[in-house]
Amino acid sequence: MSLYKYAKLYALNQSKYAHLNAFNSLVDPSALLARKSVSKAGRSKDDKYDVISGLPMAIKDNICTKELKTTASSGTLKDFTSPYDATVVKLLQDEGAIIVGKTNMDEFGMGSHSTHSHFGPVKLQRYEGEEASAGGSSGGSAVAVASSQCWAALGTDTGGSVRLPAAYTGVVGFKPSYGLLSRWGVIAYANSLDTVGIFGKNAKGVGAIFDKLNVHDPQDPTSLPPSTRKRLGRQRRDMSSLRIGIPLDYNIATLDPTVRQAWIRRLKFLWQCGHTLHPVRLPATQHALSAYYVLAPAEASSNLAKYDGVRFGSRAEGIDGTPDSVLFAKTRGQGFGSEVQRRILLGAFSLSAQAIDNYFIQAQKVRRLVQQDFNNVFATPNPLFDDTTSHSEDMTDKVDILICPTAPSSAPSLSDVKTQDPIHSYMNDVFTVPASLAGLPAISVPSPANPEEGTPEYEHRDSYFHSVGIQIIGQYGDDKLVLDVAKKVE
Ligand code: GLN
Repeated sequence: MSLYKYAKLYALNQSKYAHLNAFNSLVDPSALLARKSVSKAGRSKDDKYDVISGLPMAIKDNICTKELKTTASSGTLKDFTSPYDATVVKLLQDEGAIIVGKTNMDEFGMGSHSTHSHFGPVKLQRYEGEEASAGGSSGGSAVAVASSQCWAALGTDTGGSVRLPAAYTGVVGFKPSYGLLSRWGVIAYANSLDTVGIFGKNAKGVGAIFDKLNVHDPQDPTSLPPSTRKRLGRQRRDMSSLRIGIPLDYNIATLDPTVRQAWIRRLKFLWQCGHTLHPVRLPATQHALSAYYVLAPAEASSNLAKYDGVRFGSRAEGIDGTPDSVLFAKTRGQGFGSEVQRRILLGAFSLSAQAIDNYFIQAQKVRRLVQQDFNNVFATPNPLFDDTTSHSEDMTDKVDILICPTAPSSAPSLSDVKTQDPIHSYMNDVFTVPASLAGLPAISVPSPANPEEGTPEYEHRDSYFHSVGIQIIGQYGDDKLVLDVAKKVE
């Protein structure tokens, strides 16, 4: 199909699937189609051929764009337009990508179903009549890609917000190593965990976008400097015979049988291709979720303190001349949704003098144990740790990559989600938070829940297919390996 026809199809799908509520704002599609870069001339002989040039992309609404509002799906930012583009947006535009719109999400990235949005929930249309969870918090980006309303999309992943929606909607979702993609212009949720991630229909497309965005940004102090980047992913491996780790601690009792079956099928397939399988233990996994839900809200409570209606956030109406405390309380009470308020309370509590030792400090210790677990099983030492001498030379029990489910089940129905308590919803992140706590690269690739149905071809994937997510996790900096294995698995 020509690029022009693709662009037309995306524009058509944006109206066909408007009811899925994937976008908070859209660029007028007719204006986009008129642009030279999406026209047939977009890939004329005169233009430098580029993989992403002229392709429509969507951006999660917590990533700043000059052209469209950036709301983070929050009432407090509902009228905010950034004076600048985030570095990742600028890099995409420099490559000729067309930004088509900003996608709906859980407010400030807090949630697992994209239902905590000021603009209403994102919906995944499973089959006639039934609405399912799109996963969160980047559910809008995932649905936009799954329903071919764009070619690819950016999201953010703090504890699984790219991988979980990818798993639920049947697309590929990649969270790179922490510090590789710039977060300049990305609204902070939990700085020590936040990453920009990429959605696409296949790992090749996602890899092409990653290559363009994977550059040092001097404006982001956490962006990995060039000297450290040189040390990453240098290990040569025999790609025809990888050592694949099966983390036994992910085989929990509540794992949905369809997910377990899909996991087994993928492992079998890789074994038939000549790779070897090795059971490994990651014992701190069972505490990772609790640690995450102490650490992330703690950072969030601090990050969100600035939305008080003075310099940041929409001020509550009709309270001029009242004491500051009333202004702050009313502005924050009206501007933030219930889940964000819950996280602020949780975070403020765990950082308070009486609780910090029992909660925040303990959670930091668990985080370190989770990192050590991963370092113990990977054959390559973590390049961020100077002391590589302690890394055992005995490779018999080490692996190149880990393969596990992305989530314990496939997408739940939205009616079930509505009746769930918050803790139940946090449980969906049990397999995604460990890689986040350790800053590791991880990708979710779709696998059919029912193997007889198979995986629809790229061009026919413009609606939901019943899938589960298979997650591939690599050592820090092994992003290319993770993407290469994803290409084999999908
Ligand atoms: N569901 C997790 C949370 O609510 C992860 C969110 C994310 O990665 N942004 O915190």
